[in-house]
Formats: sequence, C-alpha cells, structure tokens
Amino acid sequence: MLERYKRKRDFTKTEEPKPGSKVSDKDNLIFVIQEHHARNLHYDLRLEIAGVLKSWAVPKEPPTEAGIKRLAIGTEDHPMSYADFEGSIPEGEYGAGEVRIWDKGKFAPEKITDKEILFRMDGNKMKGEFVLIKTRFGKGNGWLFFKKKD
Ligand code: MN
Repeated sequence: MLERYKRKRDFTKTEEPKPGSKVSDKDNLIFVIQEHHARNLHYDLRLEIAGVLKSWAVPKEPPTEAGIKRLAIGTEDHPMSYADFEGSIPEGEYGAGEVRIWDKGKFAPEKITDKEILFRMDGNKMKGEFVLIKTRFGKGNGWLFFKKKD
C-alpha cells in the first residue's frame, strides 16, 4: 500500500520517514493533521486504517465546528511513522515546504466503506464525530469532510 509513497520520494534528499511497521492496537488508533506549507498551504488529514495512514489533502482549515464543509482530496497512503513527522521538505522534492503537526489524537472509526467513513477524533482542535463522504468533485478523489454535530 505504500508503493506510491515510496515512488514519489527520494529518501537520500528528504528527511521524511521511510515506510516503517509501527502499528497501534485497535483500541488506540490515531489521526494526525499536518499543516503543509507547500506551493499552496493545505492540511493533510491522516487516519490510521489497516496499518497505514490513509491520507487526504484539505485545501482550507479543517472543520472544527458543525456546518462547515471542506473538500478533501484523497492522496497516497503514508507510513505510520509519518504521524510524528515535522520538518522541511527540500526545494525540488515532492511536496517541498514546511510540515507542522496541526492536531493529533485518538481516531475511532464507526463505519468505513469505499464511499463513506464515519469516525470520532479526539484531538486538541478536532473533537467529536466526523464524516468523510465521496463527492463527484475532485477527479474521482474528492471527498467532503465535515463535523456531524457540535
Ligand atoms: Mn501535503
């Protein structure tokens, strides 16, 4: 599942982690949201699913309250070790720019299908029940991301 991740990166140039095998037990799954100052500032939402970090790029600040809908574009799976990554991806490399952890915490999935993910996040900024649902926007990788209720 991490082939795309490896293919896009030159690990002699970037400090991003190489794929590792650290996996949480099923009652202690995690999420992380990284603020990524690439060509366009965006937020990378990553959820621990099946031993990897399933990932989406969110072009605007994530929805901390109900009533805000964000587009989230599905991107390549990332290794679990990426959840701790903060640093600078060098100029000329994929995703060049600063990466900072914006929020991190416990992830509890309620339902996962190809079209819909219902889950809880317990972080500092993201707390409560959230939804990711496939949308026709975004060239086949588009999802809507929102908080279910306050
Ligand atoms: Mn990114």
